[in-house]
Amino acid sequence: MYGVERKMIYAQIKKGRKLHLVHEYEDGDVGQPICGIHAPQFRMSINVPLGNACKRCVRVFNSRQG
Ligand SMILES: [Zn+2]
Repeated sequence: MYGVERKMIYAQIKKGRKLHLVHEYEDGDVGQPICGIHAPQFRMSINVPLGNACKRCVRVFNSRQG
């Protein structure tokens, strides 16, 4: 199980160009992209334009805000 969700960060899946949104947890673990795609490996990215993000991730993220 993961710990408490701390913040949203971007993750770029290896061999992929899309940036997905993932949760980073208090203990430093990182979850899977919120759009539901399976990502065995990815590297973290921050401070990137939201326009480069996976549209499904953005939709899920926006729906959670309201
Ligand atoms: Zn995504």
